[in-house]
Amino acid sequence: MPVADTIVCVDCGGPCRRMPVEPPELGWQLGDVVVYRCRDCADVWYVEVDDDDLDDAAGDPSI
Ligand SMILES: [Zn+2]
Repeated sequence: MPVADTIVCVDCGGPCRRMPVEPPELGWQLGDVVVYRCRDCADVWYVEVDDDDLDDAAGDPSI
């Protein structure tokens, strides 16, 4: 699946928004760290982009 705009906070179950909201100009790359900030408890989560996030590039032979 693509990189999510929001995730659920592990601590409080609240919604965490991606920062920044806009995806990078060149798209997500394997190993990119996506930052989410929880609306309710303000915790910050760092999620590394993995293969599952890049299904759109599945047909790219350069990987
Ligand atoms: Zn939270």
